[in-house]
Amino acid sequence: MYIMIQTMSENKVIDEAKQGEALVVESPLNASGKKLFLESYGCAMNFSDSEIVASILKEKGFSTTSDFSEADVIFVNTCAIREGAEQRVRKRLTDFKKVKKTNPDLIIGVLGCMAERLKSQFLEEEKLVDIVVGPDAYRSLPQLIEIAESGQKAVNVLLSKEETYADIAPVRLATNGVAAFISITRGCDNMCSFCVVPFTRGRERSRDPETIVNEAKELFQQGYREVTLLGQNVDSYLWTGGGLKKENLSVEELNNATSFSQLLERVAQVHPDLRLRFSTSHPKDMTDDVLHMINKYENICKYVHLPVQSGSTRMLEMMNRGYSREWYIERINAIREIVPECAISTDVITGFCSETEEEHQETISLMEWVKYDFAYMFAYSERPKTLAERKYTDDIPEEVKKRRLQEVIDIQQKNSSEKTNAGIGKIHRVLVESISKKSAEEMSGRNSQNIVVVFPKENFKPGDYVNVLATSSTGATLIGKAIK
Ligand code: SAM
Ligand code: SF4
Repeated sequence: MYIMIQTMSENKVIDEAKQGEALVVESPLNASGKKLFLESYGCAMNFSDSEIVASILKEKGFSTTSDFSEADVIFVNTCAIREGAEQRVRKRLTDFKKVKKTNPDLIIGVLGCMAERLKSQFLEEEKLVDIVVGPDAYRSLPQLIEIAESGQKAVNVLLSKEETYADIAPVRLATNGVAAFISITRGCDNMCSFCVVPFTRGRERSRDPETIVNEAKELFQQGYREVTLLGQNVDSYLWTGGGLKKENLSVEELNNATSFSQLLERVAQVHPDLRLRFSTSHPKDMTDDVLHMINKYENICKYVHLPVQSGSTRMLEMMNRGYSREWYIERINAIREIVPECAISTDVITGFCSETEEEHQETISLMEWVKYDFAYMFAYSERPKTLAERKYTDDIPEEVKKRRLQEVIDIQQKNSSEKTNAGIGKIHRVLVESISKKSAEEMSGRNSQNIVVVFPKENFKPGDYVNVLATSSTGATLIGKAIK
């Protein structure tokens, strides 16, 4: 029996049309009880949440299926970040409608950000849905299923000030057995004006570092060799004993607190062979301490995801990002100085409210200056109830947003392949993840900078560290040969 997970693929260049591209992998759960089909859309955080959901239902004896037509329960873990993401979920629900016709006892649940945004309205709009559950209410899923089984609709969209699911050992889904996610914070306290996340995921909470370190240790013992620490703003991580982040801490609380750089150090010390990544860094909060920590430990990957959103200070102010173009440039200079080998990636939004052609050019000039290794790029999509929806007019025509998006994608494609090509002739320490998709005779893995490296299989296996001399590239991937 299997649980099926679909998630957005980690493309170097993502445009609106590619969002939601499905990655389908299967992983066994319990072999008894009712059958569950689970699908996850959106970001890594959502994917990590699906692992928590799977764990909660495993405890209740659920077996799982990769075929939704034989499921007793279908759960869709949704994303609300852009309009397109929501449309994709609604379209997917029509596939399930057909099954419900032949099996009226089938229970369909909508989980995650879209569920939180629409709440019980979802039940009115999509008659086939039985359960609506927000991201902080997954512990109540077994009870909600029971309610739905009795023929009633069930909703729990309460957001919590404490919930971090710290005690739940996630079931690893879609796993290659080498790399796993660990959530370190939930929610977000930044009110970026374009963003729906603070409304769908609630206030920021940090997770007990002890449980994070223990999860990393267990993963290492199970054979995993890479963990990615996840949070909407990892630099804001601060453990002071649980609950919401306090504005003012006493000296004693400060002395006992764990900051993000301290957490990085603790996880890096789990084992030198456990590689460490993290996402997302925030330009207003990323400190030199964090950069020095990246430099200090070989096993902390030399990679920072630092979303800029726009190269124009006026746009950044309207976006409520808390930094200017100059501040951002200073942070990039700090990365270059403290961690010279560091790869940098970003997120960009084109066509935000009132963005002029000159301001768009400022984004382009910044991208040309930074020369990002990777970027995730999006056309602005107005989201209900956000600050931008209330304060500004979404006045950039769709075709202009799309044209600007294409311009930033073109630059990024050029920069990404230049960055990859710069790796030719160099030796890369690669963590092997799997057999290459293109050839069973080759292995595939990533270097510290997150570039995919492919090389002859020989006797290597997933989880090995291999030194590979890169001899050519395909633009996005380095090709090479293992050296002694
Ligand atoms: N917390 C991260 C940060 O501050 O950079 C990002 C989280 S969000 C899930 C991922 C990205 O989606 C954002 O960085 C932004 O580029 C994009 N995004 C968020 N809201 C958007 C919107 N309304 N329209 C288009 N893109 C959006
Ligand atoms: Fe959204 Fe801004 Fe929070 Fe990122 S930091 S999740 S963009 S509000």
